[in-house]
Amino acid sequence: MKTEIYRQLDREHHLHPFTDYKALAEEGSRIVTRAEGVYIHDSEGHRILDGMAGLWCVNLGYGREELVEAASEQMRQLPYYNSFFKSTHPPAVKLAETLCRLAPAHMNHVFFTGSGSEANDTVLRMVRRFWALEGKPDKQWIISRENAYHGSTVAGMSLGGMAPMHAQGGPTVPKIAHVRQPYWFGEGRDSEPEAFGRECAAALEARIHELGEENVAAFIAEPVQGAGGAVIPPASYWPAVRDVLARYDILLVVDEVICGFGRLGEWFGSQHYGLEPDLMPVAKGLSSGYLPIGGVLVGDRVADTLIERGGEFFHGFTYSGHPACAAVALKNLELMQAEAIVERVRDDIGPYLAKRWATLGEHPLVGEARSLGMVGALELVADKAAARRFPKSLGVGNLCRDICFDLGLVMRSVGDTMMISPPLVITRDEVDELVRLAGEALDETARRLA
Ligand code: PLP
Repeated sequence: MKTEIYRQLDREHHLHPFTDYKALAEEGSRIVTRAEGVYIHDSEGHRILDGMAGLWCVNLGYGREELVEAASEQMRQLPYYNSFFKSTHPPAVKLAETLCRLAPAHMNHVFFTGSGSEANDTVLRMVRRFWALEGKPDKQWIISRENAYHGSTVAGMSLGGMAPMHAQGGPTVPKIAHVRQPYWFGEGRDSEPEAFGRECAAALEARIHELGEENVAAFIAEPVQGAGGAVIPPASYWPAVRDVLARYDILLVVDEVICGFGRLGEWFGSQHYGLEPDLMPVAKGLSSGYLPIGGVLVGDRVADTLIERGGEFFHGFTYSGHPACAAVALKNLELMQAEAIVERVRDDIGPYLAKRWATLGEHPLVGEARSLGMVGALELVADKAAARRFPKSLGVGNLCRDICFDLGLVMRSVGDTMMISPPLVITRDEVDELVRLAGEALDETARRLA
């Protein structure tokens, strides 16, 4: 079919996620037709460097035949069976074992889901169930952070801290509170970064007191807040948060949907920050996005209670541990181990990206360039010396994002923060290309604003 016909049919029948439908109808969609390595191709013949690894998920890059083979072999053998009641199948068992081997030592169980949002729905139910079984049914409040993204189901959206999402679709799930995020550039520049990290942990403690420590069940956060703007916390933040949670016996839920599977240079972001989560929702990089699968890794404390005292847990999804998805995830983890992808991010390509990315900080439009592992952000500013933002109405982030696309690079914007999260297999030459294109996009953005 011709591009224009696709565009027309798309406009007439397809409601896209996170999309302004009128704007899409006017501008038309970009039709992505194929991909290999770190590049996607559209129906008009453009080759575009995917600086976002799809949606932070194609960790092994596009076109890995081994993953295609794993899916088709499993579909021939057993395309579907469920894991409800007392059934299971080899791919789910093997994947569970592998995941628990890679996770922190005290995490020895996993509950499979079809996505990251379903994983966070599972978290919400599991946390409250845990405390009820512990004889503390009042421990129901879950504290999250402003501007966090934890998914789009009702529980995921409620756990998330995105005000525009809360404003749509009626009341959120009760007993979820939000505290400030450790976003130094955006919200903390009155203090030194390390002092600000401690202030954010103190804000968490203050909220716990407000709610009553006997009522607070869990704190949920990403190691590095991804969709909220690649927010890398000051070094003081996580140790201070750990201390607060331990003081009041509050569970720690670390959302690893983006940070898991090598993105920060360890298997899990928790390991980078020395965290011992009680629950870890995962998805995305688990299968490098080739098939949809997620899950919740469960620490021994919660698992023991659920198993010993819980009876039946009335919760599950038709596609929990789907055989083909599990087989692809398993092969993905095998390839990551065989090719030492995590070590490569930590010791080689991550530090290289950091060095190259930092050069963009010299651009007049950039107030801060930051990165960790294979996540990076640029803060666009109107006045570099004063780090003053552009008026929101100018939509500078979206302008820069669109220019990037036209130049052959996918970067994502949230407000005036530009983000990258490329495939972990990106080469040094491709990093150079990414940084060059990002620089050209900044130049062009500056020209259009002049
Ligand atoms: N948690 C985090 C941190 C995410 O970034 C996302 C998706 O971007 C989700 C949860 C939701 O995952 P999914 O889109 O697979 O439902």
